[in-house]
Amino acid sequence: MPGYRVLLLDMDGVLWRGGQPIDVNLEAIRTLASRGVRIAYVTNNSTRSRRSYVERLRALGLPASVDTVVTSGYAASTYMARRGVRTVYVVGEDGLVEEARLAGLEPLEECPDSVDAVVVGLDRGFNYGKLDCAARHVRRGALYVATNADPTLPHPGEPKPGAGAMVAAISVASGREPDFTAGKPNPWLVELALEALGAEPGEALLVGDRLDTDIEAGRRAGVDTLLVYTGVTGPEDPLDPEPTYTAGSLLEALRLFG
Ligand SMILES: [Mg+2]
Repeated sequence: MPGYRVLLLDMDGVLWRGGQPIDVNLEAIRTLASRGVRIAYVTNNSTRSRRSYVERLRALGLPASVDTVVTSGYAASTYMARRGVRTVYVVGEDGLVEEARLAGLEPLEECPDSVDAVVVGLDRGFNYGKLDCAARHVRRGALYVATNADPTLPHPGEPKPGAGAMVAAISVASGREPDFTAGKPNPWLVELALEALGAEPGEALLVGDRLDTDIEAGRRAGVDTLLVYTGVTGPEDPLDPEPTYTAGSLLEALRLFG
């Protein structure tokens, strides 16, 4: 038995789907928390702040604190702060602006004359003026950071455009690709989650529903992975990249924790 002591959880497709809680996974998480397994969350969604996720997670009976919720907005902001960025033009929503401010940056939502960095996340108010401003500063040499490159968001019925669609528009208009993309499959979210828990990669199991983001991020971070079939991937889909384990749900995989 591997006996993992740390659980890193993707959110959409693991905790909830289309806004509905996935009880079979939530029950397993509560059981593991009661046995002392340490838990953190990793999500490519930058539109909500860590603080707002903590409220939602606690309402579901899950252990959560601001330190153990790693969003791509927090991860992108932390990266910029560690690179010495001070001012940043934000293409994104309130959650990204809040995380930039908490990281000690000065987030600017009106188009500035000059700026150290441009950060781009999902922005449901994206428009030509924001595209023009972001592309101009990227072209002039500002550090160019994306929260994630997801082309679409899961949505009941039809997928919706994701952050990657806005990043692509700015890249085309500026002629540059992002200098850094914080979200999965980059291992940065996973590394920040391990750092928050004071854990080593070998102690942890990452649970996700997507191969190209969750499982690939775990692989790059040196963390074992469990693909659960409660989200976008089904048992009939080819396993590329290959997760360490697969299961119908987290409840079916409790044996991995000894
Ligand atoms: Mg997911």
